[in-house]
Amino acid sequence: MDLDSPVTQLAGIGPSRAKQLQGLGIETLYDLIAYFPRTYEDRTHVVPIHQLETEQPACFRAWVIREPRTSHIRKGLSLTKLTVADNTGRLNLTYFNQPYVAEQLHYGEEYFFYGTVVGDFAGYQMQNPTYESVAKPGVATRRIMPIYALTAGISNKLLSRCIQQALDACFQDLPELLPASVRSRHDLCRAQEAYVSIHAPESFEALDRARKRLVFEEFFIFSAGLQLMRNRRRVQHTAPYDMLDLTDFYAALPFQLTGAQRRAIQEITADLQRGVPMNRLLQGDVGSGKTMVAAAACYLAAQNRRQAAFMAPTEILAEQHFQSLSPLLEQFGITAALLTGSLPQSKKRRVKAGLADGSVQLVLGTHALLTADVHFQDLNLVIADEQHRFGVAQRAALSEKGRCPHLLVMSATPIPRTLALMVYGDLDVSVLDELPPGRQTIDTFLVGESMRPRINAFIRKHAEAGNQVYVVCPAVEESDLDSLKSAEVWAETLQRTVFPDLRVGLLHGKLKGADKDRVMAAFASHELDILVATTVIEVGVDVPNATLMVIENADRFGLSQLHQLRGRVGRGKDKSYCVLFTSNKNPETLARLKALCGTNDGFQIAEQDLALRGPGDFFGSRQHGLPQFKAASLTLDMTVLKEAQEEAEAVLSDPDFIHDPVFPALQKRIQALFSKEMNIFN
Ligand code: ADP
Ligand code: MG
Repeated sequence: MDLDSPVTQLAGIGPSRAKQLQGLGIETLYDLIAYFPRTYEDRTHVVPIHQLETEQPACFRAWVIREPRTSHIRKGLSLTKLTVADNTGRLNLTYFNQPYVAEQLHYGEEYFFYGTVVGDFAGYQMQNPTYESVAKPGVATRRIMPIYALTAGISNKLLSRCIQQALDACFQDLPELLPASVRSRHDLCRAQEAYVSIHAPESFEALDRARKRLVFEEFFIFSAGLQLMRNRRRVQHTAPYDMLDLTDFYAALPFQLTGAQRRAIQEITADLQRGVPMNRLLQGDVGSGKTMVAAAACYLAAQNRRQAAFMAPTEILAEQHFQSLSPLLEQFGITAALLTGSLPQSKKRRVKAGLADGSVQLVLGTHALLTADVHFQDLNLVIADEQHRFGVAQRAALSEKGRCPHLLVMSATPIPRTLALMVYGDLDVSVLDELPPGRQTIDTFLVGESMRPRINAFIRKHAEAGNQVYVVCPAVEESDLDSLKSAEVWAETLQRTVFPDLRVGLLHGKLKGADKDRVMAAFASHELDILVATTVIEVGVDVPNATLMVIENADRFGLSQLHQLRGRVGRGKDKSYCVLFTSNKNPETLARLKALCGTNDGFQIAEQDLALRGPGDFFGSRQHGLPQFKAASLTLDMTVLKEAQEEAEAVLSDPDFIHDPVFPALQKRIQALFSKEMNIFN
């Protein structure tokens, strides 16, 4: 048996158990060993019976003083009762449907128990306590007990036993992945010690040591992988741009760029003249003006006789970009074209022909750009807007249409820098941390149901003044689980009973793409006064006439998401508002929502969100390519991340490192991690 052996090699693991383990992501013995406890129970203290307290699970040592007796209460329910005692008191124990207990606990013998005492008028007793003979070493008593995340059919006991077996079988194979120098600099224990202690800690100090080591290792491997990627990218080549003068471009803009925009453009310009493909994330809050930065890059590409492709996640957004960029770039003789799925065939054909012969220099479009019959003469710049909406595979597919093209991805999700590094791997990051001058701040209010009539009047006031209103609901359909407002039902209610004289539209993710676009277009052209929507409107849409956003069940959303949502208003000349409805009474939740009312700074909100909810929730789903760390927490272990990064960089830049004894194992582990997490590294 070795670390790569399938779990079926273990005693007691057949195909069906293996299948259940697979549900936990466990296939090999290594997977088992690297399946760390979710938490621990302190069962180290053994107390006398008279010190047992209700609702406090505890260990105690006692004799069986009345023989176990099983009675069958009714079909399918048996009760086994016995009494135990130590020299401070006695206690009745009850086991439900565990008649075998009667065979295992013997009159007059002594055991360790672990359980929770419950008391009522009839006295104290304990139900289903764990028990172990005093003659055997403690497994479930007298120790710090690992508690694993489980799945149907796999008990904590079973999993724990499998892991111990795997550890015993593979102890000698457990790879040491950290160079000795790194271990000694950071006072880290050896891998073997760490793996043993994380599953069966002798003490909380030992557990801390194990965790420290494993967190470091995890970040170290990850950082080393990133570093290798970066090195690999440095050897790719593309002809540097030599026309880098933006004076005419700046002069043609209807406004002065912000300092942040200029800085980002400078960073991009520097990338474009290096002869190595750019790989940059442009991150900026909603409305920070990312499109113009992208336009500058497109301008440079065209001036250097290269083609650019600008991909947006929706047709509306692609069209919006086309409308704003095409006239601007036309002044310089740059031909831009739009390519989306809903264009007539003849038009699509013409655009494709233009891309193939090079007469179209910039194409703006949706994933329609990815179809096999789209060919470029020389695609050299790829831009992906609202990057988190794209699978990385899609981004890569577009890049494939050129030869090592420059890549610029843009995101409005204001990811804290530390996390951006994790998510976007080896991308360089430019940040637009400044909004164009004269931006409206959005006044945000947190309200409860009692304010409903006043808010309805407020909605009416905006509509009657010729402005438009978004109403955002967390769910699409009525859910009977709780009282979530559903967009469908709420839209109907508003139209029928509250605003029969106003035009109410409905937009949600279950609509077909074309229907979605139709509703959005109707709202954009003011054929609707109120748009009831789910979070599908979160992305990029620009309707400057919308001045009020009402968010139902606001407590259901993350802070960053709420901030993204409210960025849909305040885009025009009129004062704009955001109203957050909640009936949640939890003081923490309310504090969180109030924080949003107090600031319009997306980065500050993102940091808060991260601190409050952790990165998993922060992104909402794995789609964003965040690696799944086993031991490390991106919230708690940020300083370790930094240390591990520095070490990884130092170690990898040492040419002798390939001779280090840990090198082969480390290389193997990096490869395994990176192919699993491929979606970050493309
Ligand atoms: P986002 O970063 O959310 O994609 P956009 O690029 O859509 O932001 O810009 C939002 C709005 O701000 C657009 O109408 C754009 O024309 C305008 N804008 C961009 N940069 C500036 C600037 N420097 N000064 C004034 N308005 C700007
Ligand atoms: Mg945008």
